[in-house]
Amino acid sequence: MIVVMEAGASDEALARVVKRIEELGYRAHIMNGVERRVIGCLGDERGKSQLQQSLASLAGVESVMPILSPYKIAARQLRQEQTLVEISPGVSVGGDNLLVIAGPCSVESEEQIVSTAKAIKAAGANALRGGAFKPRSSTYAFQGLGEEGLRLLEIARAETGLPIVTELMDVSMLEVVAATADVLQIGARNMQNFTLLKAVGTTRKPVLLKRGMCATIEELLQSAEYILAEGNPNVILCERGIRTYETAYRNSLDLNAVPALLERTHLPVIVDPSHGTGVWRYVTAMARAAVAAGCHGLAIEVHPKPEEAWSDGPQSLKYHTFVHLMSEVQAIARAMNRTLANVPVV
Ligand code: PEP
Ligand code: MN
Repeated sequence: MIVVMEAGASDEALARVVKRIEELGYRAHIMNGVERRVIGCLGDERGKSQLQQSLASLAGVESVMPILSPYKIAARQLRQEQTLVEISPGVSVGGDNLLVIAGPCSVESEEQIVSTAKAIKAAGANALRGGAFKPRSSTYAFQGLGEEGLRLLEIARAETGLPIVTELMDVSMLEVVAATADVLQIGARNMQNFTLLKAVGTTRKPVLLKRGMCATIEELLQSAEYILAEGNPNVILCERGIRTYETAYRNSLDLNAVPALLERTHLPVIVDPSHGTGVWRYVTAMARAAVAAGCHGLAIEVHPKPEEAWSDGPQSLKYHTFVHLMSEVQAIARAMNRTLANVPVV
């Protein structure tokens, strides 16, 4: 249920509405809009007609209406303004400036991560990615350097100032990974690990939530809701391709997701064409297409020697190819009234 307060309704009126919501056993989630305040009532859907009746007559209430989607705080209906998530001082996503996260699939060595960080920064990226804990289909595949990988990411951040995006796979490692990460990545395979979603919801760290490889848009938004409902408003959604019958590439990058998500939610939406295609030769074209579709940022895998990468080499760009991608993306960004903070306008 959503309570729309009258424009200029007093703080006392708002407090009375919140009190009534709580008396009825619901949680009140206040959203401050430019013109008016809106309160989401979160809780068991079964009592909603009683809730509607008892709130509609309160002073300062303009209207009370059901939120039709199964996600509430994530819904555009609850918040018209686009949410901006700040990932480090001066670096945000959701606005006109595109966030470009780049880096290797896995952290492999100090030399690898620091040299990649420098290269992607010089090319205009504004955040460094790199997995220290890797979700691999095979138990015999490289599982990541673990805590040593986190140390190496810290060195790369100290050398370049780039904020760090790295994956959290397990609740037991939350404190350890959050101590290093500027953004906690929840991978596709964990999109419906509800315990993990609730755990990151208790922090205020930005969370990059990747779409599950067989998840619908609605399921992605319901997963985001788990994080938001715990009180963490800093959720960034990521389209990274879904599994289809097509075998010419690893995944089918579902760019329909961009306008579909922008219509349904106020959360920032970024696109990962590296996992979305699995083929480095297709990454630049799909990065251009993603920006043209209206996304707020990109996640791109870059490696100094993709042929020697310990994971996801076939989809990783060499430095010079990433530089080329950035110049192509800039041309599209300009047409979309978007900017790239660190790329000089040519
Ligand atoms: C990754 O970002 O390296 C990764 C494992 O991504 P996904 O969870 O989308 O497969
Ligand atoms: Mn990867």
